[in-house]
Amino acid sequence: MAKQAVKRRGRRQVEDVEVSGKPVDLGVLQSLVTEMLLALGEKPGRNGLVKTPERVAKALAFMTQGYQRDIDHLLNGALFPIEYDEMVIVKDIDFFSMCEHHLLPFYGKVHVGYLPNKKVVGLSKIPRIVDTFARRLQVQERLTVQIGETLKTKLNAHGVGVVVEARHLCMMMRGVEKQNTTAVTSSMLGAFRSQPQTRLEFLKLIRRGSVGDSD
Ligand SMILES: [Zn+2]
Repeated sequence: MAKQAVKRRGRRQVEDVEVSGKPVDLGVLQSLVTEMLLALGEKPGRNGLVKTPERVAKALAFMTQGYQRDIDHLLNGALFPIEYDEMVIVKDIDFFSMCEHHLLPFYGKVHVGYLPNKKVVGLSKIPRIVDTFARRLQVQERLTVQIGETLKTKLNAHGVGVVVEARHLCMMMRGVEKQNTTAVTSSMLGAFRSQPQTRLEFLKLIRRGSVGDSD
């Protein structure tokens, strides 16, 4: 089946979410998972499920660890003054997130580009920024905008482009049951929004095969 793409462009009106940074209460989570198993008609006491509440609680805590992370702390010491003013691109960043509507995973790739303004960020920090926002309950549009706006603000960049391509288990396993649908969202800020050439260059560069591929 041909790959279908749903294109949506992230805009600033995407809901802004404040996070409390409160540590996860594993005990409460565990008892809720036990209740959930009961509500599903299961027997939480049976062999295979005995440790499930504990496992699920830990897995949820891991998958939402982005709530405990702070971007300023992450970027501390990782911004460097530089005269370089060409586009910087980091593409094919794998991510795993969870949709806030169904608490089911969505996952895929993030491509990021920016035009530096006398400052660059250590390249390894970009995937970590992606992770910080991905490992929270999310919608793809907001994830896209949060990555873009964070880079734009923290780097004071001339422009930032973010494209996120993802598959949503809530679409694949339930609802429309479309297994080959990819949702694509983008956030174009500064020069990436105002200058079509810049945007096109970015889109062209992220479409190109990876290093080592014959394209
Ligand atoms: Zn969903």
